[in-house]
Amino acid sequence: MKNEVIHVTRPFLPPLEEFIPYLQQIWENNWLTNNGPLHQQLEQELADYLGVKYISLFSNGTLALITALQALSISGEVITTPFSFVATTHSLWWNKITPVFIDIEPEYLNLNPAKIEAAITSKTTAIMPVHVYGNPCKIDEIQRIADKYKLKVIYDAAHSFGVKNNGISILDSGDLSVLSFHATKIYSTIEGGAIISHSEEMKRHIDNLKNFGFRGETVIEEPGINAKLNEVQAAYGLLQLKYIDNFISIRKTITERYRILLSDIPGIRFMNDIENTTHVFSYFPIVIDEQIYRMNRDELYEKLKEYNIFSRRYFFPLISNLYPYKTLPSSDPNNLPVANKIANQILCLPIYVELTFEQIDLIVSVIKG
Ligand SMILES: *Cc1c(COP(=O)(O)O)cnc(C)c1O
Repeated sequence: MKNEVIHVTRPFLPPLEEFIPYLQQIWENNWLTNNGPLHQQLEQELADYLGVKYISLFSNGTLALITALQALSISGEVITTPFSFVATTHSLWWNKITPVFIDIEPEYLNLNPAKIEAAITSKTTAIMPVHVYGNPCKIDEIQRIADKYKLKVIYDAAHSFGVKNNGISILDSGDLSVLSFHATKIYSTIEGGAIISHSEEMKRHIDNLKNFGFRGETVIEEPGINAKLNEVQAAYGLLQLKYIDNFISIRKTITERYRILLSDIPGIRFMNDIENTTHVFSYFPIVIDEQIYRMNRDELYEKLKEYNIFSRRYFFPLISNLYPYKTLPSSDPNNLPVANKIANQILCLPIYVELTFEQIDLIVSVIKG
């Protein structure tokens, strides 16, 4: 008999009876969306939890990215990474901005700051790095270059909910940081997202943009979009927030077990914690060196499937190899050797709150062969 299906991730739904009182509150308020009371409460609680001052909730992370670019009037070219989820680059495309891809650094797979300067042209207006798997980018180096060339920095922080550097939220870096609260993310409002900004004025600007650009009842300040989070989602978010610390500590335990069990397999590499960083263990990626390990990444991916274990090749294919980006000059694989190599070696192993030690042991035994 086959074992139970193990997916790469699985949402944890809190007990239904804990959600009902929130719904009752919504029914009593008779207020469903447009900055309702639960929305306001969630913004406050998230700001406190994350240790940031200004947060604007969104209906999803992609609209938050698109709006962040609008809020800073970004145009022309933006330097970014091909090793991310397509939404990073799609947000540029929807703003008619040309993405300029640079290579990643081999250790933590984030955009390599040493490659930024050579990619800057007279059209460059911003840098959009991604804290891939929640591992912080080299924030200081990126900021130094941005300051030197007067570029904005917008972080795609979709993987970085709760990540801290020396006790300070990494969401505080750059001009804006964007979160996703999609069901597959560590903290979820089913669908949702947020922009972290650094002034009351910028938060107001962003809040206007996500509500058609209305200021008051009759004035449109700028053409905005509809990207509002509703009260039911805000309620779900408030309930999830009660569980988040527990979720993170369970994920830490899972990560530690993977690290111990996988530590002596030649050709399999995983990422260790970064010094002075508070991690949240969103993903467990491994990098497979097929020269040393007995098979390549795709062969291992298929083999795991035979055991009902669904790992994920995240991120593969590389964005620069996908339509409509693959014809861009910066998409040339010769420009992106590390990213192209890693995209063929990367595999994210299952990690979710209800994953058992027996299941982890099974996954590792299949990898060990
Ligand atoms: C999930 C994700 C997004 C998109 O967020 P949605 O809320 O699904 O729109 C953007 N960037 C990265 C890196 C992501 O992982």
